[in-house]
Amino acid sequence: MPNASLVIANWKMNGNRELTKTMSAALREQLSQLQQVKLVVCPPFTLIGELASQCYYDDIAIGAQTVSEHPSGAFTGEVSTAQLQEFGVSYVLVGHSERRQLFSETDDMVNEKALAAVNAGMTAVICVGENKAQRDEGNTWEVVAKQAKAALINLPKEKAGKVVLAYEPVWAIGTGETASPEQAQDVHAKLRALLVEQFGAIGEKMPLLYGGSVKADNAAELFAQKDIDGGLIGGASLKESDFVAICQAAQ
Ligand code: PEP
Repeated sequence: MPNASLVIANWKMNGNRELTKTMSAALREQLSQLQQVKLVVCPPFTLIGELASQCYYDDIAIGAQTVSEHPSGAFTGEVSTAQLQEFGVSYVLVGHSERRQLFSETDDMVNEKALAAVNAGMTAVICVGENKAQRDEGNTWEVVAKQAKAALINLPKEKAGKVVLAYEPVWAIGTGETASPEQAQDVHAKLRALLVEQFGAIGEKMPLLYGGSVKADNAAELFAQKDIDGGLIGGASLKESDFVAICQAAQ
């Protein structure tokens, strides 16, 4: 039985105003059948206002794909937690592998962004994952544990309810190559233990998402794993029927 509780769409730098309309309409149609699943859509910044106007009365949460660690000031191109919250954004991805790789985000920055998000009352979705070489060398857990521990530094127990971890093996993101349910569960079980060690019993309940080429035809098997509580979905979140099918697999 799937036990997923949270499915997050990451549109990356894709989509337009039309997609916000058609996707929110498609999700709205399913909401009554998806009562066990929390849905979050993370469009590019420019589409957040449009999506907010579509989702305002619905149980579809809006997320951002990144956020500044700074509250305000001379940071050209950046967007703060308060600016996001003004548009109803309640989730934010931090440390996505594309941010780490292409925009040089370090573990320290990921931690600062996570702290900024939770201190503002937002939910931080912290992404961690190894690349292909690190997996092949047998260093998967070492890499993932280092990223996760660094991201969680100074996060107090009372903020645990605002933290989600997403395991996203870099080699599986956008490649069509998915971690097997066993590979994913193996890392998730270790992340679960890490969360319990840091946060105590509440760590058992903190959502652990899997991301990396989740599709309509592999979602149910992944979501059925004991410690996989949902998914972070990239490419397959851009087509209404695919994303709806993934959300249904989580129900
Ligand atoms: C992602 O970008 O977080 C992701 C998981 O992408 P995809 O589903 O396309 O692999």
